[in-house]
This record gives sequence, C-alpha cells and structure tokens, in this order.
Amino acid sequence: MAKYTGLVCRQCRREGMKLYLKGERCYTEKCAIDRRAYAPGEHGQYSRRKVSEYGLQLREKQKARRIYGVLEKQFGNYFEKAERQKGITGENLIQFLERRLDNVVYRLGFASSRAEARQLVTHNHYTINGHKANIPSILVKVGDVIQVKEKSLESPKFIELKENIAHKTPPEWLDLDKENMTGRVIALPSKEHLDFPLEEHLIVELYSR
Ligand code: SF4
Repeated sequence: MAKYTGLVCRQCRREGMKLYLKGERCYTEKCAIDRRAYAPGEHGQYSRRKVSEYGLQLREKQKARRIYGVLEKQFGNYFEKAERQKGITGENLIQFLERRLDNVVYRLGFASSRAEARQLVTHNHYTINGHKANIPSILVKVGDVIQVKEKSLESPKFIELKENIAHKTPPEWLDLDKENMTGRVIALPSKEHLDFPLEEHLIVELYSR
C-alpha cells in the first residue's frame, strides 16, 4: 500500500493548520504547530510571500490530500469520477473522500487518526456487513454496517479506543453504537459534516485549469 513517508508534522506546518495526522498527540502540547506555527524550512519563519491564486488552489488540494492520506494519482482519480458523476463536482469529491473506509473508521472513533485507521483496516480488524474489509479505499454506502471484529475487541488497542469513544460524537451521517463498536451509514456525507475547513471550489478550479 502506497503511503506518504515524510515527516508528518511538517505537513501541518506547511499547510499552516492542524491536520490531525497523529491521533491523540495532536490534542496535547506536544503538537508541533502549537510550538512552531510557521512553515518548515530555513526561511519558513520569515517568509511573507504573497500567495497567487494558483498557489491557494494548490495548497487547498494538498491539504485535503494530506488529511485523507491519499496519493496524488488517486486524488486525481477521485476528481475525475466526481466530475463525471451527476451533481456538483466539489460535493461529489467530498463524498468520495469521506466515504473511504479508513476515514469512516476514524470518524466513528474506531481508530485515533486516519493514518492509524488505514493501518488497522489493512490488518483486518473490521467488517462491513459482516464481511472481511481490509482495503482502506473501499467506499461505504448508505445502509452499510461497519463493525470492529469481536476478536479485535479483546486487544489493548481496542480496549483503549472503546474507553475513548465514550467522549466521541460521530458526524450526523453515521450512527454509532458505542457499546458494540458498530457504526451504520445512515446518509451521504456533505461539507457541513467535515471536521476541518475546506474550500473545495479551489480544488475544482485547480483541476479545471
Ligand atoms: Fe499536525 Fe498532529 Fe503533528 Fe500537531 S501533532 S503538527 S496536529 S500531525
């Protein structure tokens, strides 16, 4: 499975905002962006360059790509599909990204970050409608039931996640049964359900150049 291997916190500093890529650490004082809120690199602290329209569009795409942990080519594929599908391209794109199994697992609280969700999915800890689901890019649909495997619930990782889930409120398009670590897709996601600000029109403009 392809994945980004650079320094994780640099990505947040590059985008100038928390991307929440490291799970619990992101909520502590160890968060790098809280300590050094400027772009990485030799001149990051002093850079006052005016960002062009293209630069803004590019940054927005990179931000979304990094948050969802999707490589360039796959992100481009999502955009092509979003454009071909009926409806508004930007909203379709959001749906493709949010409906990824690794994202859904994270949004339900069955993993502490999207990166961890990706790893736990590939290690076969979840099912969809009772069937094996170990591919992070599977797209869930309305009515699907996502569940942590019974055997996995006994592991220290999932015992900890279950404790943390008590404080978790999932987005409205997901229904969460905290006791049984089960989630159901009850609607399609949309922009207001995102857990970060996104100006998807900038991404559409970028690919429409
Ligand atoms: Fe980003 Fe989390 Fe690192 Fe903070 S700790 S810079 S939010 S990945």
